[in-house]
Amino acid sequence: VKRQGKNGHLFYTDDLDAQLLDHIELESDLRKAIERDELVVYYQPQFHSEYNRMIGVEALVRWNHPTRGLLSPGLFIPLAEETGLIYDLGTWVLREACRQMKRWHDEGGPLIPVSVNLSSHQFHQSNLVTYIRNILQETGLAPEYLELEITESMMMDPAVSIHILEELNKLGTRISLDDFGTGYSSLSYLKKFPIHKLKIDRSFITDISQNRNDRAIVSTIIAMAQNLKLDVIAEGIETKDQLDILTENDCKKIQGYYFASPLSAADVETMFIMPSRE
Ligand code: C2E
Ligand code: CA
Ligand code: CA
Ligand code: CA
Repeated sequence: VKRQGKNGHLFYTDDLDAQLLDHIELESDLRKAIERDELVVYYQPQFHSEYNRMIGVEALVRWNHPTRGLLSPGLFIPLAEETGLIYDLGTWVLREACRQMKRWHDEGGPLIPVSVNLSSHQFHQSNLVTYIRNILQETGLAPEYLELEITESMMMDPAVSIHILEELNKLGTRISLDDFGTGYSSLSYLKKFPIHKLKIDRSFITDISQNRNDRAIVSTIIAMAQNLKLDVIAEGIETKDQLDILTENDCKKIQGYYFASPLSAADVETMFIMPSRE
């Protein structure tokens, strides 16, 4: 069925209905996903390029959907945010990631932190600090091994953000500014925010071998981080060339397919946590 839309565009109502139905179905599925244990946390190892050692992991959620297969977060995080399910989902991921990390520590694995992505909804949740404290207590993970990844867009109201960040600092967790360079954080605020790390966005890395501007931006971010005494990590490193450029520019912390993709906990364990164990 072809129909003229309000704005003059032609569209197919059948397609639209199908899409809407699909969306509704996915939403009701997502509601059940947590109870049914369908969510899975994958972990992407982060490396120090000089010592060739794993220095942390980022927790990245996936949905093992009964009929659609393994869904990437880009497909359901926005839906979770729209519907408010993000609170339960986010809490679940945090608890799961802390529990896993504590287990690895207890089993004699390296004492490395886990980075967990916070959505802006969670960041502005009034009980954020309380429930993170509870999760840390419940799982027994020391706060310094939990790093929270937030984005510049969450810092639009500096006074509010600084307050939340200070509370998290008191708790002892670490804070990383994700996708750095893609938002529009005012640089003057950067020094006021109690954060620990900048994570250089993949979009500056992709063409870094060919693109002088990207190279300039990245080396500037690295220099700025060093001057502000902030830690810095680059994400989305896929090639040796990209790795070499970052190393030359004194960014030794690396995350990307070049070293490792996001992996199931079991795979991380056999490949990186207890590689010598049979
Ligand atoms: P992000 O936080 O920027 O995570 C990095 C994304 O880049 C991940 O996609 C990862 O798989 C991918 N990636 C890692 N290395 C490479 C590389 O070398 N090349 C390329 N092309 N990609 C690479 P993923 O897992 O699909 O996650 C997408 C986004 O979903 C994340 O982006 C994050 O914003 C969001 N997300 C994931 N898990 C959670 C979660 O538990 N809570 C919230 N609120 N958001 C999450
Ligand atoms: Ca992230
Ligand atoms: Ca990122
Ligand atoms: Ca991103």
